[in-house]
Amino acid sequence: MKKDVIIIGGGVVGLMCAYSLVKAGRQVTVIDEGDITNSTSFGNAGLLSAFDKGSLSYPGVITNTLKQMIKGESPVKIHPTLDPKIYKWLMKFAFSANETRFKRTIMLFEKYGHITNEMYKYMQEHEGLDLDFHEKGMLSVFTQQKTYEDKLKKYNKPDDEKFSVLDKEQIKEYLPCGDFDKIKGAILFKRNTHFDPKRAMLEMKRYLSENGVEFILNEKIQHIRLQDGEVKYISSKGKTYEAETYVMATGYQTLLASLRKKELMMIPAKGYSITFDMPEELKPKTSTLFNDLFIVMTPRRDNVRLTSKLEIGSDDEKVVKEQIESIKTNFSNYTKPFEMKNIVEWTGFRPLTPNDIPLIGRDEEYKNLVYAMGLGWLGMTFAPSIGNIIKDMIVNNLDNKDSDDILLFSGFYQY
Ligand SMILES: Cc1cc2nc3c(=O)[nH]c(=O)nc-3n(C[C@H](O)[C@H](O)[C@H](O)COP(=O)(O)OP(=O)(O)OC[C@H]3O[C@@H](n4cnc5c(N)ncnc54)[C@H](O)[C@@H]3O)c2cc1C
Repeated sequence: MKKDVIIIGGGVVGLMCAYSLVKAGRQVTVIDEGDITNSTSFGNAGLLSAFDKGSLSYPGVITNTLKQMIKGESPVKIHPTLDPKIYKWLMKFAFSANETRFKRTIMLFEKYGHITNEMYKYMQEHEGLDLDFHEKGMLSVFTQQKTYEDKLKKYNKPDDEKFSVLDKEQIKEYLPCGDFDKIKGAILFKRNTHFDPKRAMLEMKRYLSENGVEFILNEKIQHIRLQDGEVKYISSKGKTYEAETYVMATGYQTLLASLRKKELMMIPAKGYSITFDMPEELKPKTSTLFNDLFIVMTPRRDNVRLTSKLEIGSDDEKVVKEQIESIKTNFSNYTKPFEMKNIVEWTGFRPLTPNDIPLIGRDEEYKNLVYAMGLGWLGMTFAPSIGNIIKDMIVNNLDNKDSDDILLFSGFYQY
């Protein structure tokens, strides 16, 4: 039987599309090659940080990264590769790192960031999803005097609703494990929030199943049949699925888009997380970004997670020990000594576009195919907005040109 909407990919983006669509009364099927627990959406930091954080491609990023590389603190690693797409992507990234693009991106982050907090909060408070969601702000810690001073220049007019520059005693309260001889300063950005991605994903899956969403798991879609200007059906090794509308939410994986001969300007950017138990009294009070190290530390109900690294040109799914050790060393240079217990190491791939803008909207040739991809390093943050935008398109049968959101926030139209 022909289905209504099939979402290919049950990462956070696919699930949040399913959430908005099912609430709008649509029949939704999510197909995933795994069992929901294998995606990038599972092991990340869970920082919901649309505000005051900046984009990855900012003016000066190339010089700053080179400086960090020389100091041995750079999170970025570019593997030698013969893939021309990587070099094309790097060129576009360098081109995007300009003041105009940066300002526009920050404004878009602000616009779409509010939806995140509202939706996750609503899901937790009114729909019984235990997301371990907290509105405690994000602590931005500076280990370099220069970056701290530069940041202070920008945040020189007090705004109690948005941020507080913390004094030493306050930093100690928020980050008891910090080494205060080495930390230069910290700013609490109050509008950012965080949750536990693993818990959130499992809870979303539970909620959606209970509310009528069909899940077909451990089923890899390998083929798309295109005919008469539409997707006729999609198929796995053994089965064929037909629907009115197909949403492609396959994260960093572009196999299906390439079958349709569409090049998505997006590359996998590998990152790592280390989850561990630590003494309760040393746990940070809220999510903490070590700004100069590109390390995030998030407290969760049972443990703490560190995330870092951005590797380009590698599709190796293995955890590389050297990278884990490098995160631990960089982190421990700025914290008091303590033992990490029950360590779980993880790696995943961000679906990274060169300008931090996602790839969303209808396929211009095959109109019943909708893309919801390219959320990069902020997929947990913007998934609720993307789900909402995709729902509006499908429910109101909008074309790209009829959707202000697509024109504003899609990398198909924002360069
Ligand atoms: C180290 C690290 C830290 C991060 N920290 C944060 C953070 O703090 N805040 C934040 O907002 N974001 C963060 N991110 C980014 C965030 O995790 C991603 O943007 C987000 O998970 C992407 O979600 P997605 O649904 O697009 O992709 P995924 O989570 O990768 O899901 C895609 C799904 O599609 C399925 N799939 C793919 N191809 C097929 C196919 N052919 N057939 C069937 N199924 C298929 C996969 O199995 C997978 O389940 C971080 C990422 C990393 C790596």
